[in-house]
Amino acid sequence: MISFDLRCANGHTFEGWFKDGASFEEQKKRNLIACPICNNKDIEKVPTTFGILSKSSGSREEWATEVQANFFRQFVAFVEKNFEDVGPRFASEALKMHYGVTEKRNIRGSSTEEEEKMLKKEGIKFYKIPIPRFDSCDS
Ligand SMILES: [Zn+2]
Repeated sequence: MISFDLRCANGHTFEGWFKDGASFEEQKKRNLIACPICNNKDIEKVPTTFGILSKSSGSREEWATEVQANFFRQFVAFVEKNFEDVGPRFASEALKMHYGVTEKRNIRGSSTEEEEKMLKKEGIKFYKIPIPRFDSCDS
């Protein structure tokens, strides 16, 4: 026997037990499954709850940190690949794009606090992300 989480057309969810997956399809086709709340026969399977299981044996917190680090690494890789590194010219490049001097594009770089204030005053939206160096962790 297996159980499925089922849902009727009216959004009620309930559990149904079947011999196997084919048995569910068969009973559904013959309109033998009805919602216990409203008797609706338009029943569908609710996708199984999303679950993940880590191979690492560390605590949940350690694992969460690891997932975040991995995610962040990918994010950083994405930024490095898709954003042009303008280094310390970030503020002036952002300004040039803002005023249409240069074409708009993805840039990354560093800026001073003064420059950031100026960019904000100009109404230029930018995001600051602390990008740590991962090189040392990869060994
Ligand atoms: Zn129902």
